[in-house]
Amino acid sequence: MGILKVGDLYHIGIAVHDASKTADLYAKSLGLKIAHDESVEDQGVRAIMLVPHNSTSSAIELLEPIVENSSIAKFLEKRGEGMHHICYLVDDIYESITSLKNDNIEMIDLVPREGLNNTLVAFAHPKSLNGVLIELAQKI
Ligand code: ZN
Repeated sequence: MGILKVGDLYHIGIAVHDASKTADLYAKSLGLKIAHDESVEDQGVRAIMLVPHNSTSSAIELLEPIVENSSIAKFLEKRGEGMHHICYLVDDIYESITSLKNDNIEMIDLVPREGLNNTLVAFAHPKSLNGVLIELAQKI
């Protein structure tokens, strides 16, 4: 197996207390528009994807906890609002996980799980990647 080559930067995840309020602020101040808005009960999160007005650029993903003790709620408690993760697209999520494991990168997800917006995703642990939580996503 070769070295993993990730695709485009898909989005940057940002932890916030109130995704609607933040989306309004970013719309007014930066001209970003909502591309997707979804709540995932079992992950305890609401996610609003924002993209620049006239572009197909990478998105930002505002993550708001909707359940106490969700991982986003814990993150906010510990570190406050701000950057949470970076997400790259990959062609094959299963191969990508295997490739990272072979490179001794600690995976949070050894098996892909369903992500937002029709994706399969897996997270790699920030302690293996210089403090940055990396999400890999395959569109399905
Ligand atoms: Zn994400």
